Amino acid sequence: MTHPGCRTCSWFPVAGQVSIGPFGPSAPGLLMLPKEEGRRSVDSSRQGSLVDNRRGSVTIPLRLPWSRNRIGPLRGISVEFEANQRRYAPPERPVAVICIDGCADEYLSVSMCHGKMPHTAELCRRGYRGLARGVVPSFTNVNNASIVTGVPPSAHGIAGNFFLNPDTGEEVMMNAPEFLRCGTLLTAAADAGRKVAFITAKEKLRTVLGNGIVSRGGIAFSSEKVDEARAASHGIDGAESIVGRSRPEIYSGDASVYVLEAGAALVEQGRADFLYLSLTDYMQHRYPPEAPESLEFHAALDEQIGRLLQAGCLVAATADHGMNGKNRADGAPNVIYVESLLTDRFGPIARVICPITDPYVVHHGALGALVMVHLQQGAPEADVIRFLDEQDGITEVLTRSQAARKLELPPDRIGDLVVLSGRSVVLGKTPEHHDLSVLEGGLRSHGGRYEQMVPFLLSEPLTDGYLQRARMDPRNFDIFDFACNGTRNDRS
Ligand SMILES: [Zn+2]
Repeated sequence: MTHPGCRTCSWFPVAGQVSIGPFGPSAPGLLMLPKEEGRRSVDSSRQGSLVDNRRGSVTIPLRLPWSRNRIGPLRGISVEFEANQRRYAPPERPVAVICIDGCADEYLSVSMCHGKMPHTAELCRRGYRGLARGVVPSFTNVNNASIVTGVPPSAHGIAGNFFLNPDTGEEVMMNAPEFLRCGTLLTAAADAGRKVAFITAKEKLRTVLGNGIVSRGGIAFSSEKVDEARAASHGIDGAESIVGRSRPEIYSGDASVYVLEAGAALVEQGRADFLYLSLTDYMQHRYPPEAPESLEFHAALDEQIGRLLQAGCLVAATADHGMNGKNRADGAPNVIYVESLLTDRFGPIARVICPITDPYVVHHGALGALVMVHLQQGAPEADVIRFLDEQDGITEVLTRSQAARKLELPPDRIGDLVVLSGRSVVLGKTPEHHDLSVLEGGLRSHGGRYEQMVPFLLSEPLTDGYLQRARMDPRNFDIFDFACNGTRNDRS
């Protein structure tokens, strides 16, 4: 018998069902591989973690990581796994999926036209570039939760950054993993033996969606708090020295570039082979696509995308949402304060929740293109719907059941009404609730229908079947499915 993870043992135990070692059968449940191979494939800490029973989500590796690379350099391991009733068979090479936060397609088009994204342009020529439909509310947490679970909010439960708890009447920030109602495909990949790394710009995303990765031997940290990363809590020590530079400022484009740098460094050093890299939309909130600052930012992203490709990754990219200017002709933010509007017309019958609200207020002043309206008991709902529907700039007023059905939202975490605004309009609560002075250079924001369509890129050509799907109604949360199951050239 060997010591799990022991540096002096020449054989590593690996989670599995076959018990064959160099000296005969070993303990049940352990598959023995040469140490070098074991180090490259499955960390011993993952043994026994084949089933994730959290909230009913079951994760089963369908094929054990029997490596076909016993001789010669390893590229990764061949595994298949399942998460939330979807099956994934990633190629053996490293897979890096990027969520370019706030990346409306025009950011890529304009940057490529200016010659700022040569690697991404080449990726699109060789592979695939199209559009996919994200989730509305087109907010960060909602869509990131869908991307890492492969399911809409009706299944994973995250419908915004805030919701009104119907039991207590309190506004609750959904910043803890308990709010997620199913497991993620990242933990399923780790269970199956992939070396998973989940790197985000914003710490809030790591806390909500990174649960269970480190305990399975993976890595999860944010560029915002990279200096706090420790082996026990984040799966890595000395992250800053591994990346090669120190923590970036969160209100910067650098916070995003750093995430890609970290991902590339982990792949280059053989520390990760299944990555989700989620950026921040600070730059997109601040600058339109043609701004010189935006062009330089995308050039910096492109350099790291090139580095990931150079390191042998299959690279896939999408976005959580797009971004649009939300200003009047005179440059002032184009805001409809929905709670004030309703109070003026009907009295204090409604409470408005702005689910875009988060700790990063400089981005958007808590103003987005969708709000939840909670009505007092006895409020004239039909009259309120008609009144809101008549307002210029408001494009949709959905009841709770309509929103649950049409937007695939969890009915217990949305308002009695879900209200959406037009392309250049945002919705707020009351003027006192929003500090517009924090906005720098006008308001650019998201949250509604007009920020729903996002880029969808893969570095390899699609199979015929997946090309057909891409021409129908692909979702941004299909990106891992496409990356794992949908490309040519990587089947082995
Ligand atoms: Zn975002």
